[in-house]
Amino acid sequence: MDTYRLSRDIPVARGYDLVVAGGGPAGCAAAIAAGRRGAKVLLVEAMGCLGGMSTSGLVTAFDPMANGEKMLVGGIMREIVETMYQRGFISEHAAPDFWRRRFHCWTPFKVEGLKLVLDELTAAANVEVRFFTRLIDADVTGRQVNGVVVQNVEGYHYVEAKTFIDATGDAVLADLCGADYREAGRDTPGIMPPTLCFIVAGIDFAAYDRSVVQERLETAIAEGFFTVPDKHHPGTFAVGPTTSMLNVGHVFDMNAVKERSLSQGMMQGRRMVQEYVDFYRKYIPGFEHVELMMTGALMGVRESRRIVGEYELSFADYLARREFPDQIGVFNKAVDIHPYDGSDEEFARFREEFFDKGRLQPGEHFGIPYRILVPKGWTNLWVAGRCASSDVQVHGSIRVQPAAAMMGEAAGTAAVQAIEHAQSAVSLDTVRLVASLREAGAHLP
Ligand SMILES: Cc1cc2nc3c(=O)[nH]c(=O)nc-3n(C[C@H](O)[C@H](O)[C@H](O)COP(=O)(O)OP(=O)(O)OC[C@H]3O[C@@H](n4cnc5c(N)ncnc54)[C@H](O)[C@@H]3O)c2cc1C
Repeated sequence: MDTYRLSRDIPVARGYDLVVAGGGPAGCAAAIAAGRRGAKVLLVEAMGCLGGMSTSGLVTAFDPMANGEKMLVGGIMREIVETMYQRGFISEHAAPDFWRRRFHCWTPFKVEGLKLVLDELTAAANVEVRFFTRLIDADVTGRQVNGVVVQNVEGYHYVEAKTFIDATGDAVLADLCGADYREAGRDTPGIMPPTLCFIVAGIDFAAYDRSVVQERLETAIAEGFFTVPDKHHPGTFAVGPTTSMLNVGHVFDMNAVKERSLSQGMMQGRRMVQEYVDFYRKYIPGFEHVELMMTGALMGVRESRRIVGEYELSFADYLARREFPDQIGVFNKAVDIHPYDGSDEEFARFREEFFDKGRLQPGEHFGIPYRILVPKGWTNLWVAGRCASSDVQVHGSIRVQPAAAMMGEAAGTAAVQAIEHAQSAVSLDTVRLVASLREAGAHLP
């Protein structure tokens, strides 16, 4: 490939304790946690709002946060959901029991409410947020990050900081730093397909019977209704009196870290959304008059890169309900690896994994250790959220919003403690970290 050497003088910004790349659930929790502890934090986000996949990707439902007996997810994530409830931003179809106690229960929310709450929480924590700002390069010495280059409407800036957190979902910063990672499709037999989520309005919920959807979907497939037949129908989440988010349709074989594939995938996703809206109007009672309001501005990517961390959380750990001395959170969510293609075999494999194979039972949990946030050997770099270090099966459990937020809060707290106590990411005193997270409301039995 021909190359072009980019060389220019750009302004330098100094004085930051922490730069967080990506303002999804992980990045927001990281920035808020560090800001609350007095750190000077810069949060750079490529889109124009916080929330990442939850807002820009229209994934407007929080995954399970309780295990049927008690709430497992505490700290900032709990604060976010409780604040949203008090402000009327949780769907009227949900109740506090959904997130505080119920087993394997999703909590739908109003997307504009989450954007607002995250704006407020970051501002209150004195986090400097830069929207429409993309992290594009990293300056590294050995396994230490000195600074990053960001780009926005003002051009390029070099930002110097003491610590860095990659919460981009795609491990963009870790990749730029040269840290090791595993990539879906390169290091795995397939890529879990993404979904372009969308919102429709005009539903008559009184006439809607969700139990008929699977059977009608299979009828429509048999009648040749869809250009991409796909029996796996993740779901609809009612977010208002007549509105719903739809997480349906898969863009098979799309690779989120290949620019062409991602761009074509967005276009294919939008075409598929039109088909699904037509399907719902024609086949599903209560949806006869729905109107498409919007599709996600971000493709709903489930899997791309996972860093190689100080520890790789494994499916064996999950099955053993393993707990760790350095665990920063506990969780209970089924392994959810969507079918890799539209075949009946893959659909059967998905169902077996999701509903049967080793699924944790009510009252149970497994631990998420601190070491999965630290790229192997790196001193002042952490990775939180979807791109943390796990095998592909456990990733199918911990890639979701509540777990991402727990990881982010831990990474933000760790970065501040590393500065305060002159420790590196790999040699951090995790006893102190765990105690601090517990004090801040984490549920760490
Ligand atoms: C279709 C789908 C359905 C899902 N359903 C659910 C569900 O029902 N409940 C649930 O809890 N979870 C669900 N998930 C999982 C969950 O939404 C994500 O895995 C989670 O949001 C990951 O959080 P994150 O903070 O790691 O990354 P993200 O939410 O992906 O946020 C990353 C952020 O980084 C930004 N970014 C990326 N690169 C750069 C860069 N170079 N510079 C600056 N910013 C950058 C992005 O714009 C984005 O805002 C679903 C995911 C998908 C795709």
